[in-house]
Amino acid sequence: MLFFINTFTPKGRIDRQTWVAVGKKHGVPTFNDAAADVPPKGRLSEYVRMGFDLVTFSGGKGLLGPQSSGLLLGRRDLVMAARRCGSPWGGIGRGMKVGKEEMIGLLAAVERYLKIDHQAEKRLLQSRVDTIAASLASIPGVQAESFVPEIANHVPHLSLEWDYERIPITTAEASGRLKQGHPPIEVGGHHWMQPNRQSPDNMQGLTVSVWMLRPGEDRIVAERLKSLLAG
Ligand SMILES: *Cc1c(COP(=O)(O)O)cnc(C)c1O
Repeated sequence: MLFFINTFTPKGRIDRQTWVAVGKKHGVPTFNDAAADVPPKGRLSEYVRMGFDLVTFSGGKGLLGPQSSGLLLGRRDLVMAARRCGSPWGGIGRGMKVGKEEMIGLLAAVERYLKIDHQAEKRLLQSRVDTIAASLASIPGVQAESFVPEIANHVPHLSLEWDYERIPITTAEASGRLKQGHPPIEVGGHHWMQPNRQSPDNMQGLTVSVWMLRPGEDRIVAERLKSLLAG
């Protein structure tokens, strides 16, 4: 099977349509790892319609479903073949068994996802990013900006940078302290999901995703980042 992954799309030479066409020409099935490709919602059916034989989406990313779940969509015979690798047949997938609770959780997440107002959802995520950015705006040497990754995880994120000469904390120290505090906060690295961004050597930075936060947690993240960088 031909495995397609979009992560390197800006640098890659073979787009999705070409991938499918080459597979069909040679009679080799094509698989699209679209784990992080929703939103937009239309992606859930777009790739199968485009001709990929199998498409997978993570249950725990844009769908906000159970972390251990995912969708496998496409040709029935291939989906059934994949199922044979898992529980209860005892194949190599047994170790990655998905529980019934998680399957139902994912079904509920998909049903929710197809129903919600995606514009409102986007505004909510943007407001969380803006809350965090606003709390850091007055700290000298810190730059906070909102961005939406082009390829995957296509929702508002926060990109944070600071001048190490003014704030002598490295990226690794900052993420370590966030992780060790209470509550622990997990962040991405400098320019994470922005493969084309570069900064001068004196700049350190972090990336913050907000779509897994519960209501009000954006304020906690804002305060912790503020005390870390202003303190
Ligand atoms: C996140 C991701 C995965 C892993 O998906 P999980 O559901 O978290 O296991 C695989 N492939 C790509 C392209 C991803 O972005």
